[in-house]
Amino acid sequence: MSRKFNFCAGPAALPEAVLQRAREEMLDWQGRGLSVMEMSHRSDAFVSIAEKAEADLRDLLQIPANYKVLFMQGGASSQFAMVPMNLGGNGGTANYIYTGIWGKKAIAEGKRYLPSHLAASSENNGLTAVPRQEDIQLSDAAAYLHYTSNETIGGLEFDYIPEASVPLVCDMSSDILSGPLDVSRFGVIYAGAQKNIGPAGLTLVIVREDLLDQAKPETPTMFSYKTFAENGSMYNTPPTFAWYLSGLVFDWLKNEMGGLGKMAEINQRKAQKLYATIDGNDFYANPIALPNRSIMNVPFTLADSSLDKRFLQEAEEAGLLNLAGHRSVGGMRASIYNAVPEAAVDALIDFMTEFAKTRG
Ligand SMILES: *Cc1c(COP(=O)(O)O)cnc(C)c1O
Repeated sequence: MSRKFNFCAGPAALPEAVLQRAREEMLDWQGRGLSVMEMSHRSDAFVSIAEKAEADLRDLLQIPANYKVLFMQGGASSQFAMVPMNLGGNGGTANYIYTGIWGKKAIAEGKRYLPSHLAASSENNGLTAVPRQEDIQLSDAAAYLHYTSNETIGGLEFDYIPEASVPLVCDMSSDILSGPLDVSRFGVIYAGAQKNIGPAGLTLVIVREDLLDQAKPETPTMFSYKTFAENGSMYNTPPTFAWYLSGLVFDWLKNEMGGLGKMAEINQRKAQKLYATIDGNDFYANPIALPNRSIMNVPFTLADSSLDKRFLQEAEEAGLLNLAGHRSVGGMRASIYNAVPEAAVDALIDFMTEFAKTRG
């Protein structure tokens, strides 16, 4: 077996130690004689897996007691509709900050359920810097303010948490768990699991309890945060294996990586050396303003785009997978989530340096 270095944006790399443990437990989970995939979600065994995952996540993110953690499905994209449905029961206007492609999709979907208002936008700088706090202008009767903390495709990340007089809603799909977080600043946080949490199929929602009573009456039972909060995310069958595997990742973050403070240090170091390589070589470029460069998704272009194909092919031959940029923007992108080891970034840097020297 030879595992290569995987820079995929999502579904993304998982920690090797987690995959090993899942393999050990695959056929017979802790002597119960069956795999997690074959268990009733209401069995004592699975309930213990589910509760430990939530407890470890609460511990990692220091989630206050007045927040519920929901284990949902439908991906982050379903949250684009669930947020206005669950927070729009009292009317009001959905407010958005636009900094990239995912935010744009959230805005388009939100408009179907509530009047919407663009509170701030990065359009004027070509999506290369996030709006500053003083640029954020809420509408009258704002129901919430939504933003995307890390635009996964553009590689644009907020360097601060916006202040708002209304519930702050954040799509954290690609940077949740990349470092410590003050959850108390938010009304709702959501994230598809397949970037920095676990496998695809699970969507994490962290919601402040007082917001559970604000849903539009027509909100489908299965889209209602309250349904999930009142039923321990087991109103129906949850994605049990994805929940279990995410729990193994939380355990790994806590007990092997030393928590999110340590993780943030490693992530900073990985990102800084990769950006230094890009900035230090005329052959590579990244257009994002320095304070807003993503520590999770690093897009870059080659000076000669006719070499893109060759770059990707030779990278793959060198064991560096999935470096193509998003299909909508082209170029390259290295996603360097928690599970991507520093050795992977070092190998990428060596490859990029050599490629620029010989082909540039
Ligand atoms: C990937 C991603 C999404 C879409 O996630 P799905 O789970 O595929 O719906 C939404 N927002 C951000 C920031 C993402 O990175």
